[in-house]
Amino acid sequence: MSHSSLLPAAELRETICAFFEPRAAAVDTGRTGVREGIAFVAAALDGDECDPNANLNRICETLAAVAWSDMSTAFSLWCQRMVLEYLATAPDGSFLREEVLPSVARTEHIGSTALASGMAHAVSGTALPVHGRFDTAGVTLEGRITWASNLFPPDLVMVTAGTNAETGEAFIVAIPGDAPGVRIDPYPRLLALQQTNSSSVTLDGVRLGQEWVVSHHFPAFIGAVRGPFLLTQSSYAWGLGRRALDEARKVLRAGAAGDALAPDLERLEAEAGGIACTIRTAARARGHGTPVRGLVQLRLDAVRFATTAVALEAKAVGGRCYLADHPTGRRLREAAFLPVQAPTEAQLRWELSHSAS
Ligand SMILES: Cc1cc2nc3c(=O)[nH]c(=O)nc-3n(C[C@H](O)[C@H](O)[C@H](O)COP(=O)(O)OP(=O)(O)OC[C@H]3O[C@@H](n4cnc5c(N)ncnc54)[C@H](O)[C@@H]3O)c2cc1C
Repeated sequence: MSHSSLLPAAELRETICAFFEPRAAAVDTGRTGVREGIAFVAAALDGDECDPNANLNRICETLAAVAWSDMSTAFSLWCQRMVLEYLATAPDGSFLREEVLPSVARTEHIGSTALASGMAHAVSGTALPVHGRFDTAGVTLEGRITWASNLFPPDLVMVTAGTNAETGEAFIVAIPGDAPGVRIDPYPRLLALQQTNSSSVTLDGVRLGQEWVVSHHFPAFIGAVRGPFLLTQSSYAWGLGRRALDEARKVLRAGAAGDALAPDLERLEAEAGGIACTIRTAARARGHGTPVRGLVQLRLDAVRFATTAVALEAKAVGGRCYLADHPTGRRLREAAFLPVQAPTEAQLRWELSHSAS
């Protein structure tokens, strides 16, 4: 496989495509769900149960390949793999490492990453909406998480950030979906990604033992996971955009619009190659060695690439893309999520303008 592509080598690529391509429309319209896809990938990757994302390049490739067919499942898969990433930071021998992580890796529990506010807190110091009162036995959580996905109670594990009500320090905690006091709002109707079970969550006096605390060292935790977080997000954005270019090329080859739109297509194909190379190089070292600013710029580039590529596909396909169940229409709706997913385009641009170049 050329390094200007992020898609995996032929065998894995074909396995993923054969599974996800025929399901994408059914997932979009709610006739089937995303959990089977998450489980399928867990089995196909067959990774190390203690450190499932160790080969980050393979995770990035897989996310790109799933998004190439089905962005809904790619996003849910990202949530799942991020929770594995967070749990893998827990010490060897800990309850989280020995019991919770393997259960999520086997997809008996599904991972929900509620870290938008945590990442914003790390970057710009915004307040966290969850508070924790610690005592010798554990912690009691109060607060409201505006958005989280993969909310499949009771078998979900959500990871979020909170503020210690006494010390004001931030911490990271895992919350089992069946803990008393976890209340999930009804799932709102969405523009796309309906099957990701996204909604708001209220934590009403949720009582957990100390063993559920992932980290009291908030800056170190964020420092460890932020690289993989941004690289994997960039990867599914890339997969969605790459598919749009492949579809645009098919149409342009056949029609008169080709002459007018071909320069845009060529420019975007070159961009896709550059982004793929940057992701591969950074993911090989799990983001270490790439300045954070570079990873933030990469994620912004990937989002802009994907949204521009999907817009080009729509121009190439023409009026048919406006049919509600047309795959190009689906990609337009899915791509609209990318700049509003945290870190949002506004947050990325804010961070770039407030960090040293
Ligand atoms: C379908 C769906 C699923 C989601 N799933 C998840 C999930 O699984 N996990 C998760 O953590 N989140 C999830 N989110 C939330 C998402 O990641 C973003 O946090 C959210 O969409 C941001 O919009 P907001 O208006 O709610 O945020 P707000 O934080 O209220 O932001 C309001 C506006 O201000 C901008 N802004 C905020 N802070 C800054 C800043 N420092 N600099 C510049 N601009 C700023 C934002 O870009 C936005 O335009 C989901 C959202 C949706 C729509």
